[in-house]
Amino acid sequence: MHTQMLIGSKFETGTEAEEAVLNPKTGETIVAIPEASTAQIDRAVAAARAAFDGWSRTTPAERSGYLLKIAERIEAEADAFAALEALNCGKPINAARNDELPAIVDCYRFFAGAVRCMPGVAAGEYLSGFTSMVRRDPIGIVASIAPWNYPLMMMAWKLAPAIGGGNTVVFKPSEQTPLTALKLAQIMADVLPEGVVNVILGRGKSVGNTLINHPGIDMISLTGDVGTGKKMLEAAATSVKRTHLELGGKAPVVVFDDADLGAVVEGLRAFGFYNAGQDCTAACRIYAGAKIYDNLVADLSSAVSTITYAAEDDASNEIGPLISKRQQERVAGFVERASALNHIDITTGGDVGPGNGFFFQPTVVAGALQNDEIVRREVFGPVVSITRFSDVHEAVTWANDSDYGLASSVWSKDLGHAMACAARLRYGCTWINTHFMLTNEMPHGGLKQSGYGKDMSMYALEDYTAVRHVMVAHGG
Ligand code: NAD
Repeated sequence: MHTQMLIGSKFETGTEAEEAVLNPKTGETIVAIPEASTAQIDRAVAAARAAFDGWSRTTPAERSGYLLKIAERIEAEADAFAALEALNCGKPINAARNDELPAIVDCYRFFAGAVRCMPGVAAGEYLSGFTSMVRRDPIGIVASIAPWNYPLMMMAWKLAPAIGGGNTVVFKPSEQTPLTALKLAQIMADVLPEGVVNVILGRGKSVGNTLINHPGIDMISLTGDVGTGKKMLEAAATSVKRTHLELGGKAPVVVFDDADLGAVVEGLRAFGFYNAGQDCTAACRIYAGAKIYDNLVADLSSAVSTITYAAEDDASNEIGPLISKRQQERVAGFVERASALNHIDITTGGDVGPGNGFFFQPTVVAGALQNDEIVRREVFGPVVSITRFSDVHEAVTWANDSDYGLASSVWSKDLGHAMACAARLRYGCTWINTHFMLTNEMPHGGLKQSGYGKDMSMYALEDYTAVRHVMVAHGG
């Protein structure tokens, strides 16, 4: 197991306080790893700055070649990466191996192609005697900060467009899930020129905070909580750094009376509970038409009660535990407060799971009202709420009535009706008759307090590059 940070071309152990990395399935410590000192953070930023001049002048084809090599190396070690991710996050091994790893490899491959096709704006003579052109150039040194729910995938979403766009990076994984980032650092050091990617470790309030306030950083990229996003904006304000923010979500799911009930139940069983609901796009805030409501509550509750989650044979597990005791307590608190309300009915689940791990039973909260905490706040656990609506206007109004704006879905057999509803939703993504499906060609990112950075797709490359005008005087 690799426990050292990557600073320039050197692997170093942090010199500050140790942070225990836990196995969420058992609550036991896997390893304790010290965090970076201020001097180590300074050296990581300096290494990224030293690498920038050379890296930013490589051709797209050269950068594409590096990204393809990274993809190849991850693919060759996919089993080991999946095992490590499963250990550190408690994910079922099949989910890590068969869902996440291929998508991660594809992310590097997508950006390897995309960087060679970055669209430029046509040049022209906008003043007589001068030719103008618009270039897209790298922004500089990116401080890239990732969460714990999909550690290696978030690293891919952040690193591939950043280095593909010609930037250099200081990456900080979540202190709770650093293991796959440390393994990937070994590959990065083998494949990339020195300093293009640096990986440092530590907690948000110490190492993260020093990094985002560092004068040598040009751009801050965060996937994390809304509150953490606000701290990034404060740090950015003091030195006018660029920011790329992917924050939380509370995805509304609008189920009309004419929806295919079987498909809705199957979809919500999968997309509301994947990764134990620790997903910013999780289909967690369900609004059901008055006629379909009772059947949906009954069928979804019975389907959710069959989700396998703490079986000894991991191959049969569909979801894992929550990431930490704190997260388990947080989720339990939401459910406890909801169940204390007279109008709420917990139709399945509702309690912590067995053993010392951080499991929580897959839970359906029926009868929720628009102003209930369970409808308004991000739970980030295997818990969905169902609220009855009476007409389209109410459904759309309630769906939009949220501080979040990341993902949403509409379910109806009438595609025209579903499309009209989707057009009124204020979310970065709206799925119709599905949920959760992502592809590297399409953008992922939010509106409102879910942030505004786009991951995946050509739009991510746009976010990690700056538009510049160059003008040539014709002379003579
Ligand atoms: P978090 O905000 O607590 O932590 C995210 C990262 O920020 C960690 O690496 C942490 O160490 C760092 N951090 C925390 N405080 C910091 C500070 N003051 N300065 C610098 N860095 C700091 O989030 P989390 O609990 O790890 O992840 C869960 C959150 O992430 C949820 O709200 C979820 O919705 C969100 N999320 C969003 C997306 C998306 O694409 N929009 C994807 C995954 C997760």
